[in-house]
Amino acid sequence: HKKVSVLGVSFDNKTKETFLEELMDRVNHKQKSFVVTANPEIVMYAKKDSAYMSLMKEADYIVADGIGIIKGSKILGTPIVERVAGYDLMLALLEEAHKQGSRVYLLGAQEEVLQNTVKTVHERYPSINLVGARNGYFDFSDASIIKSIQATQPDMVFVALGYPKQEQWIQQYMTTASKGLLMGVGGSFDVLSG
Ligand code: UDP
Repeated sequence: HKKVSVLGVSFDNKTKETFLEELMDRVNHKQKSFVVTANPEIVMYAKKDSAYMSLMKEADYIVADGIGIIKGSKILGTPIVERVAGYDLMLALLEEAHKQGSRVYLLGAQEEVLQNTVKTVHERYPSINLVGARNGYFDFSDASIIKSIQATQPDMVFVALGYPKQEQWIQQYMTTASKGLLMGVGGSFDVLSG
């Protein structure tokens, strides 16, 4: 099975290596990608909130983040090959971005956390072209912020606003984006900065 449905959420059944290859292929072909890493909390939330469920359907990839999803898929008789933690996928993408000198934008978290994340990224992945960073406390309905981020032409935008905000914001971004990989990363900047 290429897709596995768990409580109505359609997961891509791929290994981390395969995700990484496909995502980088899309980045290199200037395609846009909306990536959701969904844990059991997110699946339960989508089950109650139909607007969130329908925006999940617009994602290009839904990755199984959390052992609960893997267990659920086994019980349903359509096992997902492996868990792909959002944080690990973000680090793997940053590593690729470093190898290729990709353009990366960091959006979200508190200003101090963000600045420490910027510092860590510069230290660990010096070849990344960090085209911009903005903290996660802004007016989400302000479309000029989306325009200003798109103007930096990022290949990847990591969005650390927590769910459901990050996916709602990414959906808005996607409607006017011509390229870029966008991924909601929850509290990952707090981990990376720390
Ligand atoms: N955050 C933000 N703007 C907001 C709300 C949250 O930037 O309006 C940030 C917050 O500072 C933290 C992250 O989003 O860095 C949320 O992390 P959390 O672990 O709560 O997200 P989850 O993993 O549950 O999606």
